[in-house]
Amino acid sequence: MDRSSKYLVTGGAGFIGSHLVDALLDGGHSVVVLDDLTTGRQENLAQAQANPYFRFLRGSVMDASLVDELLQECDTVIHLAAAVGVKLIVEQPLRSFVTNTKGTETVIEHAQRYDRRIVIASTSEIYGKNSSGPLSETSDRILGSPSVARWSYSTAKAVDEIMAGLYHQERGLRSTVVRFFNTVGPRQSPAYGMVIPRFARQAVRGEALTIHAEGCQRRCFLHVADAVSALLLLLEHPGAVGETFNIGADDEISIRELADRVITQAASASPMEYLSYADAYGPGFEDMERRVPDTTKLRALTGWQPRFNLADILTDAIADAHAEWRSDEPVRVSSALEQRPPSACGAAPAVEADLAGR
Ligand code: NAD
Repeated sequence: MDRSSKYLVTGGAGFIGSHLVDALLDGGHSVVVLDDLTTGRQENLAQAQANPYFRFLRGSVMDASLVDELLQECDTVIHLAAAVGVKLIVEQPLRSFVTNTKGTETVIEHAQRYDRRIVIASTSEIYGKNSSGPLSETSDRILGSPSVARWSYSTAKAVDEIMAGLYHQERGLRSTVVRFFNTVGPRQSPAYGMVIPRFARQAVRGEALTIHAEGCQRRCFLHVADAVSALLLLLEHPGAVGETFNIGADDEISIRELADRVITQAASASPMEYLSYADAYGPGFEDMERRVPDTTKLRALTGWQPRFNLADILTDAIADAHAEWRSDEPVRVSSALEQRPPSACGAAPAVEADLAGR
């Protein structure tokens, strides 16, 4: 990577974005962040703010003239800005869909106009309900009705991927699509339904850990530092242009086992409680039994290897939850919670409301 590059990071005040910004600044680059702070936080950029090669702009990727101006001055754009998190997507489906399609189109159009290298964040939600073994980049998408908010998020991201691919093929855009699977680590907000920060927060406060359905659904969790290192490797590699890559961990754990691990690691006395999907997200919410990435393509091209394991991830999440805890915050207990002993996880598929790593 050219050490004098200037990067635009959309969504750079968010969870993944802010870690990427720190890594780019550490690498000696200039960085501009464009973020409207819907789910991002300026505190995430505390370290970056002290760097003279860093600039923050509060604004939207929907603002074409602002995006135009920023693309003129930057060499590379990493487009992470999106409406994310199951709660936001279920509660504000129209706004989310428009941000995730029109916003991305605006960034792509201007990247093409100025011939800028662009990396676009997509998601494992692309695969929908496909719960088969490790999912490779060419695995099938299996989706429910577009009237279900979750599948509209998946569809919006698919539209982004298609746009990135077609601009590459027909107009020479130097684009790369990255599909993040569940990514976790410091600065991830528990406010939008992400399972690990939520469990960590509940465990340190002595509240019940709320498990959706039976907790038999299985997931893999990648530390954000490993996701950022994959991004940096792909940015450096000319072979990544015009391609799509999964980024994720491939060791699976059931959500119930995860809750156990969090309670043990946090030395917490919290109980576990079970909440149906309908109670958590309203009727008709759909989810998948497993979601495991095949990262062969990323590893073969770049030599990427994750460095952190689940114990490291939980240590960070628990430390974050302790730091965030305000003793005067009221403890909320949902009346919809159902306290019942779970049946054993068996062959019957269960689902988990952990949309896009949340
Ligand atoms: P995040 O919510 O922390 O970051 C998204 C950022 O985009 C936020 O800072 C938000 O304020 C900003 N944003 C939203 N709308 C905007 C707009 N119109 N203009 C400018 N900024 C806007 O979430 P994240 O986990 O860091 O996700 C980053 C990207 O990675 C997203 O595109 C998301 O779809 C994708 N992703 C993340 C995960 C994961 O596990 N964290 C999984 C799959 C995909």
